This record gives sequence, C-alpha cells and structure tokens, in this order.
Amino acid sequence: MEVEPDLSQTFDVLVIGGGNAALCAAMTAASSKASVLLLECAPEAFRGGDSRHTRNLRYVHARANAFLTGPYDEDEFWDDLLRVTAGKTDEHLARLTLRESTDIGVWMEAHGGRFQAPLRGTLNLSRTNAFFLGGGKALLNAYYHTAQQLGVRIVYRAEVTDLIMRDGRCCGALVGSGDAARQVHARTVVVAAGGFQANIAWLKEYWGAAADNFLIRGTPYNTGTLLRVLLDNGAQPVGDPRQCHAVAIDARAPKFDGGIVTRLDCVPFGIVVNKQAKRFYDEGEDFWPKRYAIWGRIVAQQPDQIAYAIIDAKALGKFMPSVFPPIEAASVAELAGKLELDSAVLEQTLAAFNAAIRPGRFDPAELDGCATHGLDPPKSHWAVPLDTPPFLAYPLRPGITFTYLGVGVNERAQIVMHDGKPTPTMYAAGEIMAGNILGQGYMAGFGMTIGTVFGRIAGREAARHALS
Ligand SMILES: Cc1cc2nc3c(=O)[nH]c(=O)nc-3n(C[C@H](O)[C@H](O)[C@H](O)COP(=O)(O)OP(=O)(O)OC[C@H]3O[C@@H](n4cnc5c(N)ncnc54)[C@H](O)[C@@H]3O)c2cc1C
Repeated sequence: MEVEPDLSQTFDVLVIGGGNAALCAAMTAASSKASVLLLECAPEAFRGGDSRHTRNLRYVHARANAFLTGPYDEDEFWDDLLRVTAGKTDEHLARLTLRESTDIGVWMEAHGGRFQAPLRGTLNLSRTNAFFLGGGKALLNAYYHTAQQLGVRIVYRAEVTDLIMRDGRCCGALVGSGDAARQVHARTVVVAAGGFQANIAWLKEYWGAAADNFLIRGTPYNTGTLLRVLLDNGAQPVGDPRQCHAVAIDARAPKFDGGIVTRLDCVPFGIVVNKQAKRFYDEGEDFWPKRYAIWGRIVAQQPDQIAYAIIDAKALGKFMPSVFPPIEAASVAELAGKLELDSAVLEQTLAAFNAAIRPGRFDPAELDGCATHGLDPPKSHWAVPLDTPPFLAYPLRPGITFTYLGVGVNERAQIVMHDGKPTPTMYAAGEIMAGNILGQGYMAGFGMTIGTVFGRIAGREAARHALS
C-alpha cells in the first residue's frame, strides 16, 4: 500500500488536480528530477477528473499511422480552430499548442498510453483524432502508474482550498478546511484543477434556476475552487463566464459522471419536442458533428429544461444509441401517455411535420434534399415521415461538459496577473486555461490536446524554475 508522503518537506513542484493536464505536468516535472507532489481531490477510485471520460485527441501528424488514416498538418488544424472559434483565440498560444502537439502520440505511448485502430461513426474523426485503447480511464490509469514509477508522490481526497501567497508569490497550498487543514509548501505550483461546471451555485449566477436541471457529464470534483482562488488573487480572467460546452444527453443520466454513453445522437433522424409537445428548433440544420454541441443550450432554453427526441422504427440502427433504452409505443397517442405529454398536441405536431415534408432522397451521409416546406421551425435535411411503429422517444436534458472561464497564461504556462505580468511560481494547464485558446466553440479531441501540451510545458517550466 502507498505510504502517505511526508507533507512537511518543501516540494519542487506541487501539482493541483488529478486529470490529464495534471499528470502530464507531474510526469514531465519528475522526468527533470524535480520532487513532485500531486494532490487529487477525488478518492483513488474516482481519480482522473473529466479526462477519464475521454476517448480521443487530435494532434498534428505528417502521415497516416496505425491509428490515424491520413495526415493532418498545422495549417489545416489552424483553419479548423479558426472556424470553430470564429477567430476568438490567442494566435500565439494556439499556434504553439498545434506545433507542440506534433506527434504527442509518441510521447503518450512512451508514458503508458495505448491507441486503437481508427473508429468509424457519427463523428468522422479517424484521420485527425487518435482513439485511446480502453478510453480515458485506461490512459489515466497508465499515467498514474508511470507517474509513480517516476517518483511523483500522490495524495487522494486532498482538496486544495487555498493557495499560500507570500509577497505576491505562490509558495504552497492549503489542503482541506477547518481543523483538518494542512499546509503544503512548494517552490512552484501547477494548477490543473479543471473548470467549475460541477458547481451548480456558480452556474446559477449565469443561468438562473435553470441550472438546477443541468446534468454534469463529468466529475463532481471540478467545482472551480482553485479558479475562484486564482481570480481572487488577481489572476487575469479569460473566456466568457456565461459560456459552457453543453450537449443534449439522456435525461435519465445521473447528475454527475454519466460520461459519453449518455449522449444522444438520434436528433437528425426524427423530431424534438418540448414539454408542450411542440417542436422548437431545426433538427436537420447541418451534419450532427457540427450541431450536437448546440443542443444542450437549446434544451436549456425550453420550459423545465426538458425535451423529447422522437423517432420511428425506420431510424433504428442509424445512430449510436445511449445506454438507456428508448421509451417505446405502438402509437403516437400511447407514446404521449408514456411521456406525460398532451397526446392531441403531439399527434398534431407529428401530423404537421409529416405533411410538410417535400419528397426527396434520404441520405444520412449527405445534406440531402429531404426538407420540410412551410413549417416553423423548418427541418432542413433528413426529414422523413414519422409513420412506422413502434414510435420511440428519448428524454433530453442539457449535459454540461465544461465551462469556458479560466485564467490567462503565457507561452511558458505561467499564470498572467491583472497587470499583464506573469508569475514565476504559478502555472496553469488544461481546462482551467483552455479559454486562452478556445474563446468559443469546440472541436472534438482538442481539450486533451491543450491539456497534454500545456501540462508538459507547465511541468517543464515549473521544474526548471524550481531547480534553478
Ligand atoms: C463525457 C466527456 C467526454 C469527453 N470526451 C473528450 C474527448 O474524447 N477528447 C477530448 O479532448 N476531450 C474530451 N472531453 C473534455 C476533456 O475531458 C477535458 O478537456 C479534459 O479532460 C480536461 O483535462 P483537465 O486535466 O484540465 O481536467 P480534469 O481531467 O477534469 O481534471 C481536473 C482534476 O482536478 C481535480 N480537482 C478539482 N478541484 C480540485 C481541488 N480543489 N483540489 C484538488 N484537486 C482538484 C479533479 O478531481 C480532477 O482530477 C470530454 C469531457 C467529458 C465530460
């Protein structure tokens, strides 16, 4: 059994957090011969933050390999980033991220990560993104093992509640609260403690009471305690505090940690109604990979933040189902009863939808010509009549993936303060600084890229400063 480290010593590098960014920082710092302590808020069984729910990451690579079907160069990556962020990115840091991502797959494998053959499916990522064998959980387990081999000392159930500041410099952290609080001293501190999406009270500051009905797709431990501490200590805020990445997930998912299997990808193949049994948005606006990330927000704007995706038997097998079975009925009226919706209104919604469909050739792989005519809101593609029993429904709620508010950093991952000056002893990596690069929008697999690149930079720079 692991012996609790001696916390009375002064560590070269203290890493706060236990996800991908934290582990990348800790392993890199330990490889530079720095003494490293990692404090993870979660118990060991739940270590790994949101990173353990991930499946893939994207990185620059010159050619196909066993895990990627073709090249992905810096220019194409940059174009993709510009498109999703609509230019809201720090070009200097963004280009650094892309450059430093070149072949991180090799580094990951050297630290225990394993990849699998490319996957096909709704997201079409096999050329740009490498998929982790065993998912994020296996990757994180491998990283913890490697970190320990490199001498990183790890404490679980160690919630950092404050930073120790002396003459404007961070020199350690407070673990726990009240009588149980302990001080830990370090020459440098890397904060990699995620966003604040698990803090419902904080979400309510921007979303009001609606946030009570949000489901959090990842860990309950990312409550933003460290983000608040850093901002209170004068760190420069970056990112829109009202922004969060939210997708539509199965309403039966647990409040936290439902992970990837609760996401619902059937929206383009049917209609979505609110609790008044009425449609409210174009379900076929564009390809699903380009639209799935707006549906959490759209559902959040509906009464009681609940909606129902409705398909018929023809749609089965065309999308990845969620872990929960659909609610099934032989007729629309019976389905309305099971969903506790007004059956007359639901029947009318379906009838109006079916009647508005222009003839076309249904093709899920194309922006096909199957659209409605004269219907508000329209359905622009993949509109086919819902007429073949059984009728099936999935309840939807907003599933929050992460928030965008973070702290400013420079190219050495040093945290930048209000006066624009970097701090020599405080570094940030991962979700807590991703807003520097992702001002808005998202592209699949980029969260892990930012965490890996900046985790490594933070670990390297913190160790260099501590040992100099
Ligand atoms: C369901 C789901 C699927 C996703 N899939 C992908 C994907 O396939 N590819 C991708 O790139 N991104 C994906 N993401 C986003 C990705 O998870 C994040 O971008 C990434 O994990 C962020 O890494 P991180 O290390 O910054 O944060 P995390 O991995 O969340 O780690 C934060 C850590 O900080 C700890 N912590 C928090 N507060 C404290 C405190 N006060 N004291 C001590 N420790 C603390 C937490 O316990 C946690 O261990 C997904 C997210 C979710 C929720």
